[in-house]
Amino acid sequence: MNIVTADFCAYLHAEVVGDKEVEHFEIHRVSVDSRTLLNDSTTLFFALVGPNHDGHAYIEELIRLGVTYFVVSDQSKIIQQPGVTYFVVQDTLHALQQAATWHRKKFDIPVVGITGSRGKTVVKEWLNFLLSNEYSIIKSPKSYNSQTGVPLSVFGMAEQHTIGLFEVGISTIDEMKHLQPIVQPTLGIITSLTSEHQDGFENEEQKIREKMELFVHTPIILGEKDSRIIAALPPTTTFITWSLTDSNSDLYGQVKGDKLIVLYNKVETFTVELPFTDEFAVRNCMTCILTMLVMKYPVEAIQARIKKLYAVELRLQVKKGINNCSIIDDAYSSDFQSLSIALDFLEKHRSNANKTVILSDVFHSGLEPKELYQQVNHLLTSYQIGKVICIGEEIGQYGKDSIAMRFFASTDEFLQKVSMDEFVDETILVKGARGFRFDKIVSLLEEKTHETVLEINLTAIRHNLNFYRSKLKPETKTMVMVKAFGYGHGSVEIAKLLEHEKVSYLGVAFADEGIALRKAGIKTNIIVMNPEISAFSAMLAYDLEPEIYSIRELQAFLQIVREKNAYQYPIHIKVETGMHRHGFVVQELNELIAILKHSNSVEVKSIFSHLSSSDMDIYQDFTLGQMELFEKSSTYIKEQLQIQPILHILNTSGIFNYASYQMDMVRLGIGLYGIGNDAGEMKQLRNVGTLKTRIMQVKEIDTAESVGYGRRFRAEHPTKIATVPIGYADGIHRVWGSNGGYVLIQNQKAPITGSICMDMLMVDVTAINCREGDEVIIFGEDLPTTIIAEAIHTIPYEIITSVSQRVKRIFFEE
Ligand SMILES: *Cc1c(COP(=O)(O)O)cnc(C)c1O
Repeated sequence: MNIVTADFCAYLHAEVVGDKEVEHFEIHRVSVDSRTLLNDSTTLFFALVGPNHDGHAYIEELIRLGVTYFVVSDQSKIIQQPGVTYFVVQDTLHALQQAATWHRKKFDIPVVGITGSRGKTVVKEWLNFLLSNEYSIIKSPKSYNSQTGVPLSVFGMAEQHTIGLFEVGISTIDEMKHLQPIVQPTLGIITSLTSEHQDGFENEEQKIREKMELFVHTPIILGEKDSRIIAALPPTTTFITWSLTDSNSDLYGQVKGDKLIVLYNKVETFTVELPFTDEFAVRNCMTCILTMLVMKYPVEAIQARIKKLYAVELRLQVKKGINNCSIIDDAYSSDFQSLSIALDFLEKHRSNANKTVILSDVFHSGLEPKELYQQVNHLLTSYQIGKVICIGEEIGQYGKDSIAMRFFASTDEFLQKVSMDEFVDETILVKGARGFRFDKIVSLLEEKTHETVLEINLTAIRHNLNFYRSKLKPETKTMVMVKAFGYGHGSVEIAKLLEHEKVSYLGVAFADEGIALRKAGIKTNIIVMNPEISAFSAMLAYDLEPEIYSIRELQAFLQIVREKNAYQYPIHIKVETGMHRHGFVVQELNELIAILKHSNSVEVKSIFSHLSSSDMDIYQDFTLGQMELFEKSSTYIKEQLQIQPILHILNTSGIFNYASYQMDMVRLGIGLYGIGNDAGEMKQLRNVGTLKTRIMQVKEIDTAESVGYGRRFRAEHPTKIATVPIGYADGIHRVWGSNGGYVLIQNQKAPITGSICMDMLMVDVTAINCREGDEVIIFGEDLPTTIIAEAIHTIPYEIITSVSQRVKRIFFEE
C-alpha cells in the first residue's frame, strides 16, 4: 500500500513526529503484534494500549527489527531516531479502525459480513470453500473477528480480490458501530443465535440489536426465520430466511437421515447430502445453501459442493512430539493468510531453537502460482525456518529453486522415504490442505502416549496473570513461579508466554529446570529457589540467580563466583520469618552482612521471605508478624550494606489477601494456573488445565457381579461399566476412588467403581448414554481440582503436580 502522509494524517487526525520529510510511504503490512517476525521496514505498527498490555513498550525492539512507521498515542514513549516516523493520535485502536475503514473504501467488491452467536467461523470457512472456484476471496483469517481482528482482516483486501468474507463478533454494546464502517457489508449473514456470550449485554434483545448494527446499510440479510431477528431488522433491509420448522420461509429444510430436503421459494425442491448431521452443522449448511442460492449458484453445484464440506478446526495446538520435538498441528488448511498466522504461532510457542515446516501446496485465489510461491518463500525466510519440507506437485514445480530443502510429490511418498527419527529437537509446523492428509504425518510425529491429554489454555493463563496484576500497583514487579514443570503444566511453553508478558522474574526450584528454560531460549531473569551446591557452576554458565539461604551455601557460591571471576553476580537473600523451611534467622544477619560487605563478586538483587499461611484468616496475626519481622530484617540488611534491593514476600494468596504488603515485587504461583485458595478468588480466575481421556470399553454387568481388584464394587442392579485408560500411575490418587470420586462424561457425573488401577479405572455409566471412544474429563472447568483435593484431604497443588509426565500436554490459545 502506498500511503500519502498528508491524507493519512488528515483521515486519522494524526500529527507526525520524527521524520517530517516523507510525503508518501510504502507499507506491506499492518501489525499490532510485536512478536511477528514479519515486522520490518515495510510494517506500519499500531501501538495498542489495553488494560494489561501496552504496545508502546515494544517500540525499541521493533526499531531494531527495522520498523520505521508507528502509530502511537503516548508521546513520552517515543524513541527519536533518524528515519523513524510516528503518527501521534488520541487512541491507537480507534486509529487502526479508521485506517481500515479508509482502506475498505478503496474497494468496490461484494463483501459478506457474518455475525451471530455461533458458527461464524464455520460458515465463513465453508463459504470460502464453496465459492472459491468462481471468486478470488479475501476472508478473515482463523477467527479474527474482534475490535482488532476485523480491521486487520480488512487490511488484507487487495486488487486481485473479487469478494470479501469477514466475520464480526462483539462482546458488549457500542462495539459494532466501530466495526460496521470497516466491513461495510453488501450482503449480511446472521448465524445461529444462542444465549452464550450474554454477559456484556443487558438482555438478549439488546445483544441482537447490537449485532444487527453491522447491517444498517446492508440491502440484503440472510438468516434463520426468527422473530427475534425480525424485530431487530434495519428498516431498509430485505431479510431472506431459512427454517427447519416453518415452510413459509424462503428456504425450508427437512432432515431425513443424512439427507436434507429443501424447498426454495416454495416451488423448487431438491435434496442435499449432508456431510454432518449434528444440529449446528445442519443449521450452518442451511445458511450456506441459502447464500449460494441468493448468489445464483445452480442447484447441481450446491449439491456437489455441500457434501464435500469438512470439519473446521478452529484452534492451533502444540503437541508433544517424538525425540523432544514439539508439533504444531495445522493439518486442515493451507491458505496463504493462515500460513503467516501459523508461523506466528510457531514463533510464539516453539520450545526448540530449530524450526521446521512441513508444507503442502498453498492456496491463494487470485495470485499466479509463481508470485504466490515467491511470497511463501519470503514468509519462510522471514521466520527463519531452518528446514522446509514441501509436499505437492505445485509447490514442487514453483518452489524448487527458492523454497529449498526437500520435495515430495505426495504425502505417501514422504512417509515412505523419510523416517520420523530424522526429526530431533525441533519445533515442527505441519501445515497442509486437508486433501493431503497431513494428519497421518502428525500422528507419526506425535509422542505415542495413550489418548490421555492435559490440555492447557494459554489464554486463561494470561487472564489469570492479568487478574493478579490488576491487584497491584503498576510499578510492582511480578515474579512467576514455574517450578515443578510449571506446577505440572509445562514450564517452557508457559515461560515463553510470561516472557512476552514481561514478568520480571521466573522462579524454579532446581537448577536443571532453569537450564531447560535457557536452552529453550528464555531470557527473562530466573531465580533458582533450592540451588544445590553441585549445580553452582552450571548456574553461572546459564545465568541463573540463586536464592541464598545459609552461610554455608553463600560461602560455597562465593568460591565458585570468584573462580569464574564474576563480578556483582546477582543473588537473592531469603530471610526466615516463621515458615521455618530455609532462610537466615535474625541471629545470622550480622555474619551475612559481614561477608557481603567484603565481597563485590555478588550483588544482593533482592531480599525476600515466604508466608506460611497467607490463605488462612485464622492466622492473620501470625502473617502480620511475619511481615513485621521481614520489614525489620530487610531494613537492617539494607542499612548495613547501603543497598536498595527488591523486597518481596507475597505469594498468590498473599496478593489476594494482603495486597498492601506487595512491596517491590510479588511471587505468583498457583493462581496463574487458575486455582485460588478461596472461593471468591477462584470465581475471578479461569480454568487452565483439563485432564481428559476416552472411554476404552463399555460393558454390562449383572446384579452381584463385581468390578476391579479386591471386588470392592458389587453391582446392586444391572450396571453399565466404562473402562477408562488412566490410573494412579498417571497421577490419579487412588483414594479418590473410595471418597466419592467421579469423572465427567457428556458433562454428567460417572462415579468411579471399585479400586483405581495403575493404568485404568472403571466408572458407572448406567445413567449416561455413552459409547466407546467418548471423551472423559478427569478434571477441568466443570470438575475443578479443588473438589478432588477436598474429598481426599489434600490441596490442589498436589493434584496438578502429580499428573505424570507420560500424559501428553497440549497447549492452545483461544
Ligand atoms: C512456590 C512458591 C511461591 C508461590 O506460591 P503459591 O502459593 O503457589 O502462589 C512463592 N514463593 C516461594 C518461595 C515459593 O516456593
